[in-house]
Amino acid sequence: MALISDFLADLRGTQGQFRGEVEFDPPLSRVVYYRIGGQASVMITPRAFSDLELIHGLLRRNPVPFFVMGWGSNLLFPDHGFQGLMIRMKHLFTEVEEIEEGRLRVGASVGANVLLKVAAEKGYGGLHRFTGIPGSVGGMVAMNAGTHEGEMSDVILRSEWVNLTEDSDSLQVHSRVHEVGDFSYRRNHFLQPHDLLTHIEIRYEPEEPARVKSKIDELYQRRKASQPVEYPSCGSVFMNPKAHGLRAWEVVEKLGLRGHQIGNAQVSEKHPNFIVNLGGATSSDVRALIDLIKSRALSELGIELHEEVRILS
Ligand SMILES: Cc1cc2nc3c(=O)[nH]c(=O)nc-3n(C[C@H](O)[C@H](O)[C@H](O)COP(=O)(O)OP(=O)(O)OC[C@H]3O[C@@H](n4cnc5c(N)ncnc54)[C@H](O)[C@@H]3O)c2cc1C
Repeated sequence: MALISDFLADLRGTQGQFRGEVEFDPPLSRVVYYRIGGQASVMITPRAFSDLELIHGLLRRNPVPFFVMGWGSNLLFPDHGFQGLMIRMKHLFTEVEEIEEGRLRVGASVGANVLLKVAAEKGYGGLHRFTGIPGSVGGMVAMNAGTHEGEMSDVILRSEWVNLTEDSDSLQVHSRVHEVGDFSYRRNHFLQPHDLLTHIEIRYEPEEPARVKSKIDELYQRRKASQPVEYPSCGSVFMNPKAHGLRAWEVVEKLGLRGHQIGNAQVSEKHPNFIVNLGGATSSDVRALIDLIKSRALSELGIELHEEVRILS
């Protein structure tokens, strides 16, 4: 592993060649939904494929820790921040293209909200399953995101990605036609930690645009009524346990922890599988609540809970 100072010195030398933004010591709290987290050493928001090629070259010369983030809606960073490179996928690969009837090619930085808007305009049925998920397509694939209407693995056909530490002179695009076993509940099983997803292909069912729109509107209203969207959060903190017949929120409810507060983090009054940031909550506050819920679920109910939120240490 190279020294971050060597990486930064090399980066400063190539900085002028980037089309996207390069920010030193950015507060992560600014770019994640939770509004929690210390500073990263550096954050690059690529705007061209050549930016990824520059990153690939830098990482090959100076292999330092790095992390690919999408829209930051499922991330909890530590209060001490991240000693390494943060790559923020926000502005590169933002197109939605119809390849043929029933099949779309979608960039990894397209937001679920944009995909839903296009679906409602053009009549792309079946995509209403992503209503209310505040992430990017890349994050939705990595997390196999979904709702009770279905998940990413139901509609994804093919993925394309690059490996940013690959031992090759030029950056190669890899692809995979998806098979059973590539995804499970809130997990993908094909991306490696150094992979950055660029595009996917998904299928849709042609449907009357007005019908698609009304399904999305109805689902959105239901979510607004049942989820604490007025506070920063990461959505569901825990995955639903496999056995026991209880959903994660019911486990927290059974423990009597609805509304429980540590520091400025609180188990939501509205939805007990959400831990909300009431304002100025720290990562340690949220983690203390997570640890409390997990240990009590195990000792009092014999239920092992697993985090859905990605926690970086
Ligand atoms: C209010 C709220 C409601 C939510 N509701 C839901 C819900 O109903 N269903 C659900 O499943 N989730 C939900 N979530 C969680 C979150 O929105 C999803 O997990 C989403 O898919 C994360 O996307 P993101 O772009 O924000 O990814 P991030 O949070 O930025 O990252 C999540 C993971 O994806 C990886 N990743 C992101 N982009 C890429 C890329 N281009 N290439 C490779 N890896 C990448 C990251 O490395 C990380 O491991 C909710 C969150 C909030 C705040």
